[in-house]
Amino acid sequence: MAIGFFDKTIAGSIGLIPKPILRRVASRYVAGETLEHALAEAKRLNDEGYLVTMDLLGEAITTVEEAQEITGTYTRILDAIQQHGIRGNISVKPTAIGLASDAAELERNALVLVEHAARTGNFVRIDMEDSPTTDDTIAVVRRLRLAGHDNLGWVFQASLRRTPEDLEALGPLGPNLRLCKGVYLEPEELAWQSYEEVNTAYARLLEELLPRRDHYVGIATHDDPVVAHAEALIARLGLSPDQYEFQVLLGVRPELRQRLRDAGHRVRVYVPYGRAWHAYCVRRLEENPKFAGFVTRDVLRNPAMLLGDQSKR
Ligand SMILES: Cc1cc2nc3c(=O)[nH]c(=O)nc-3n(C[C@H](O)[C@H](O)[C@H](O)COP(=O)(O)OP(=O)(O)OC[C@H]3O[C@@H](n4cnc5c(N)ncnc54)[C@H](O)[C@@H]3O)c2cc1C
Repeated sequence: MAIGFFDKTIAGSIGLIPKPILRRVASRYVAGETLEHALAEAKRLNDEGYLVTMDLLGEAITTVEEAQEITGTYTRILDAIQQHGIRGNISVKPTAIGLASDAAELERNALVLVEHAARTGNFVRIDMEDSPTTDDTIAVVRRLRLAGHDNLGWVFQASLRRTPEDLEALGPLGPNLRLCKGVYLEPEELAWQSYEEVNTAYARLLEELLPRRDHYVGIATHDDPVVAHAEALIARLGLSPDQYEFQVLLGVRPELRQRLRDAGHRVRVYVPYGRAWHAYCVRRLEENPKFAGFVTRDVLRNPAMLLGDQSKR
């Protein structure tokens, strides 16, 4: 889908939207400000038959101390997941736990998390951020996986032209991965730009990955043609629901996740929470005008969101 004038205009005006209004809109996509809010949302989703992955929202992290603080909070999230019997894991942004300083800091904190997750019987997904972070993120996850930490997974972005080569190079280290389109605006020399090109790249990667029975792929998308292609592939390959999962963002197209769940697929919902929701929303909306367009169209279709309807259903 091309980024239109509408999307760019909305994105450029995000800073002007009063905070209370933005809060109501954000409440559809963000579980709340505290861990208690996030756990309540996770429990609700578990009760409805979904798995979750918890994401702590942070403003741009720049210091080693901040990264260690976020890492500490994630260890408490892992403890809470265990204590409350939540069926879910954590998703962590590399820059939030050290990459904003350097790759060594990321590696130290990622190690703290995978070891803590192993003790609580859990799993850590390292999200993928924009292209200047790709090399370091892959290198760190690779080293940790080589060191035998199997409860660690990565994310690959179909929009990046390099992704097929990256996956090829990982070989047997790749098993547990999330495949998404990629949310960041990247230059043409690095990334496919059009909706069709990105979808073709996604389809090719899925055709490559799903038949590998030793791989577990998180199919992270809300796009009907991509979902339909994935479902056809799953049926053709005769995969059972424990060999892959669909992944969706909280608040985005809930009817899609319901349909997927009812069709017998495993579905995991990405649950972001944190006090930094406002800075996070403004940054994400300004960074990617397409995102601003989605949200605005959602509000126009569902004006109850502006009246304080908290429902994410
Ligand atoms: C679980 C999960 C984890 C992710 N992790 C990462 C990551 O680590 N790194 C990364 O770069 N990207 C990540 N993404 C984002 C992803 O890369 C895409 O930017 C995003 O999912 C939109 O792409 P799409 O496949 O849904 O298709 P699109 O064609 O972009 O969207 C399809 C339809 O879905 C709806 N939609 C999609 N996104 C939104 C939204 N935000 N708000 C409202 N409606 C929306 C719209 O109706 C749209 O028409 C993740 C996505 C998911 C679902």
